[in-house]
Amino acid sequence: MYKIAVLPGDGIGVEIVPEAIKALNAVAERFGHEFAYTAALIGGAAYDEVGNPLPAETLELCRNSDAVLLGAIGGPKWDNLPVHLRPEVGALLPLRKELALYANIRPSVLFPGLSQASTLKEEVIEGVDILVIRELTGGIYFGEKSREKTADGGQKATDILSYSTYEIERIVRFAYEAARQRRKNLCSVDKANVLESSRLWRETVMELAKEYPDVETSHMYVDNCSMQLIRNPRQFDVIVTENMFGDILTDEASMLTGSIGMLPSASIGGQVGLYEPSHGSAPDIAGQKKANPLATILSAAMMLRHSFQLETEAQIIEQAVRSVLAEGYRTPDLMEDGKKMLDTIEMGDMVANKIRNGE
Ligand code: NAD
Repeated sequence: MYKIAVLPGDGIGVEIVPEAIKALNAVAERFGHEFAYTAALIGGAAYDEVGNPLPAETLELCRNSDAVLLGAIGGPKWDNLPVHLRPEVGALLPLRKELALYANIRPSVLFPGLSQASTLKEEVIEGVDILVIRELTGGIYFGEKSREKTADGGQKATDILSYSTYEIERIVRFAYEAARQRRKNLCSVDKANVLESSRLWRETVMELAKEYPDVETSHMYVDNCSMQLIRNPRQFDVIVTENMFGDILTDEASMLTGSIGMLPSASIGGQVGLYEPSHGSAPDIAGQKKANPLATILSAAMMLRHSFQLETEAQIIEQAVRSVLAEGYRTPDLMEDGKKMLDTIEMGDMVANKIRNGE
């Protein structure tokens, strides 16, 4: 039996997580597994209920589970809370830190038939298959933050960006191992022309590269990488980068896949892995059954692969998604002429049926 902590969160989180559970249940039925789900509060919903975006019971539940499935958190309702109570800073960052999830894996894969859904030209994105590995528990998001008044009556705000050799080595090694399983090409992204932390990053990668002669290593400045991602995305196999650069580049990379609603993620490194879509709580479409649940469903597939070592089952989910898309079914974010539109629940049902039928 696999124990899964379920944290739907806010906004579309409560709509997409049940669809991923349908997919997991279909896998359980077909393969005779048992998944035991325990739901808990997180984010704005938790703040509203108990005054804390990351209640101690939620953290405890996650620690005692085999994996965590998260929807999304945050929204305008909680934007003006003191910063430590805001869902992202008060829940998401400490959850990642507490579970020691230093490696965030975000595959950007263009599913067949979706090239028209992207704003980019078909010939540019056809065949895109990039794995972005983002450092998740260090860097500027976790550095000391402060504000002080200045003599001219204004303020000065400071966010510290620091990385240690240990933190860099750990994530870069992880990325090399991933590259070894793929096309053996690793691009390390930094801003070594300006930032000291990036200079240490690059030096560390150059040292580690000697241990991985079978993998081709390259270095790219983050500004160039953001341009190259839309100029010629097929040049990339595995990208490894620090926390904030990875955050930004993966949103950009999501457009290579047609919609941010297609981009799953896995955060691993500690005892318990966390699986969530790469997007946020999408307050603009929340409660309207317009959300694309596929990123969350694909995150559940990553859970099977990375936390439970159920590779065949993971591929069955991915195949079901491919087959639904191949038949022309789309949620509104992917919609184009001649396709059949489904709402969030219908899309979840369709994928679950394909899993059950092995299509
Ligand atoms: P967002 O990812 O929520 O939305 C960006 C755009 O993408 C919106 O137009 C939205 O409608 C669309 N979108 C996102 N997911 C979609 C899906 N599954 N299907 C269809 N369309 C989808 O980013 P945002 O608007 O910048 O942030 C909204 C809130 O989410 C903020 O409070 C933010 O802090 C939070 N956030 C949370 C996480 C997380 O929980 N991991 C990540 C990013 C942002």
